[in-house]
Amino acid sequence: MSELLPCPFCGGTDLDWTAEAADAVTFYGQIECHTCEAIMHSEECWGSEEDAEIDVKDKWNRRAPVSAPDGLALVPIEPTEDMVVNGFESWPDEYFSKPEDWLAFEAMSGCQQAAHKARLCWAAMLEAAPTESK
Ligand SMILES: [Zn+2]
Repeated sequence: MSELLPCPFCGGTDLDWTAEAADAVTFYGQIECHTCEAIMHSEECWGSEEDAEIDVKDKWNRRAPVSAPDGLALVPIEPTEDMVVNGFESWPDEYFSKPEDWLAFEAMSGCQQAAHKARLCWAAMLEAAPTESK
């Protein structure tokens, strides 16, 4: 049997699963969160307590995919090697950058250069960030 994920509404872990017999051969599963009192019932009736448990636990553990609010991105806590390489290779270079980009970089003050490099690095690392967790 799968374990129950925390309550999707309050994060509570004080959960109970029960099977209720409708008659001698029909069962309904139910999960209740004792923190916020959210209750989920199995949608269908099942011929065994075990099937009702599997059904309601699968439904309880289902979660919508996580997406970031507009303007934000979900990125790994630790950058991948690809992100790091793309980050440091994003900095302007006298020999590898376009001449106009290098000249514009050279014309900046030290603080402007540092801020410019940080923005380029950040953009390159975000671009290289994986889009799915493994
Ligand atoms: Zn809850």
